[in-house]
Amino acid sequence: MIRTHHIYVLIAALIALAPWFFPESLITIVNYAGLFGLVSIGLVLLTGIGGMTSFGQAAFVGVGAYTSAYLCTVSHWSPWMTLWIGVGIAVFIALILGSLTLKLAGHYLPLSTIAWGLSLYYLAGNLQFLGGHSGISAVPSIEFFGIPIDSGRSFTYFVWFCVGVALWLSSNLLSSREGRAIRCLKGGRTMAAAMGVNVPLVKLKVFVLASVLASISGWMYVHFQRFVNPTPFGLNYSIEYLFMTVLGGAGFLPGAILGSGIITALRELLVEYLPALVGQSGNYETIVLAILIIFILHRAPDGLWPRLMKLFKIQESSSFTVESVKVNSPLEKKSSKHFKGESLLVLEHVSKRFGGLLAVNDVSFKVKAGEILGLIGPNGAGKSTTFNMLSGVNPASTGQVTFLGQDITNLESYQVAAMGMSRTFQHVQLLPHLSVIENVAIGAYLRCDAGYIKSMLHLERDQESQIITESMRLLKRVGLDKHANTLAGNLSLGDQRILEIARALCSDPVLLLLDEPAAGLRLKEKEDLAKLLDQLRQEGMGVLLVEHDMDFVMGLVDRIVVMEFGEKIAEGVPSEIQSNPVVLEAYLGSAEA
Ligand code: ADP
Ligand code: MG
Repeated sequence: MIRTHHIYVLIAALIALAPWFFPESLITIVNYAGLFGLVSIGLVLLTGIGGMTSFGQAAFVGVGAYTSAYLCTVSHWSPWMTLWIGVGIAVFIALILGSLTLKLAGHYLPLSTIAWGLSLYYLAGNLQFLGGHSGISAVPSIEFFGIPIDSGRSFTYFVWFCVGVALWLSSNLLSSREGRAIRCLKGGRTMAAAMGVNVPLVKLKVFVLASVLASISGWMYVHFQRFVNPTPFGLNYSIEYLFMTVLGGAGFLPGAILGSGIITALRELLVEYLPALVGQSGNYETIVLAILIIFILHRAPDGLWPRLMKLFKIQESSSFTVESVKVNSPLEKKSSKHFKGESLLVLEHVSKRFGGLLAVNDVSFKVKAGEILGLIGPNGAGKSTTFNMLSGVNPASTGQVTFLGQDITNLESYQVAAMGMSRTFQHVQLLPHLSVIENVAIGAYLRCDAGYIKSMLHLERDQESQIITESMRLLKRVGLDKHANTLAGNLSLGDQRILEIARALCSDPVLLLLDEPAAGLRLKEKEDLAKLLDQLRQEGMGVLLVEHDMDFVMGLVDRIVVMEFGEKIAEGVPSEIQSNPVVLEAYLGSAEA
């Protein structure tokens, strides 16, 4: 079976041989493909996996290029020193742009990066000390361990060595704790926050990382060209970087290399042969290239790499498998012990207003340690809205929520999660393209601490093994262990709900909120779920359970709160609720009708 790392070895071998067998013109293409590929790797992380679009990557390339060109020629600094200054400036700009826009949803990032891209281009063109439109020339070349990188051939090795390192670091990152958080950014932000991920911060870190890669590419570019002017850093180049990434397959690291390789080669071919075909010179290659790209993407909307994977049956090499466990020391327990009957969560006169709709109106109740509290009521009663207020998704309009003695009314989701509250969702939220066990592992986010540097260098292997062991233990507990390596999206809906419970448990919560966990389960599965919840209760966990299945609820829970039209209409033990006329009228009555 072919795996992605086999492909990497093949490309490495080709590149190692290229300087000896390829003509100079082809080597130039290989070199540019590497330079562009580096930027594109950043865009895979940012756009393909993180779901954010930047039209300013070429400007970050420009930062690296101009910083080094200026300091090396005017101040005669060493390129190795100016590299870090360029990276520093790129980080600084990315932090400013990112912190201004990444908390906001919508088009703020694309728009602000467009503005940034345009300003760099015009600034560089107008600042006399940067050489205006004619730029800076006589930039020195780099020396790498005493070897001058001054020919196309030596540059091939240098640039592709850097690309290789960037790919290795990025793929390590993606298969780590932080990488799983990045993968949640597209389509799983609410879930990630509920697992303790500070979503705006993760977005900011990825944006910074992508701009660092772009800046490094710019630094290499300028010492390869030995000359710089504003042209390659304009908006159209930023768009071309996006094209490369999307064409290659934005969700996949190898796609970055594939895309940059194809577009660089195509552009070169078109520049060479198109004038003869069209009969006149002009910038026709851009138009032809755009048409080609649209045509290819029409055929392969996810880009070419996933197509190739299918065609040649290439498997992704993932380090996160049950088989890769090396140590078996358990992950530290995070939650403090609570005595049965101790109040965990207290709601006091909580209301939620959505415009003119009062979805939850003056609701108060408590959840204690070692009990299961059922929250029932007809559809639209406000149960899920109550959940969202408790877990920080939507803060309450009025009233107070207290968790473990602390006012959490206005805390963010990830802060509430850090205190020991975990939840599942009425509409399942998981990452369908990751394996079941990787989805469970997202729950362990707060129980370990490996950051970007450790993850990229793969120095967190022991911790990852602990996470795998813990995730596996929880999969066994909920009965999904045989599906550990299956893609989560391939599970039945019932099993996906159970997977969400395993993920929530993986955060080692004090209080567990379950929104309709039994929906879609078969009878036997419901019995197993009831058994599990009963065990958790005996271990001292508090459980707040929203559920429609009355048999399931009545036989399991300690107490019940009934809601209707946003209000609490009853509270009591199951037998009281079953004979409460108000409840019968409002809920059971309507269910029977
Ligand atoms: P339940 O979970 O009990 O079925 P919900 O809490 O989902 O009910 O919904 C309660 C009411 O609040 C419904 O009328 C629903 O349409 C409304 N609602 C829920 N979320 C939102 C929202 N984000 N914006 C506006 N209305 C909402
Ligand atoms: Mg609901």
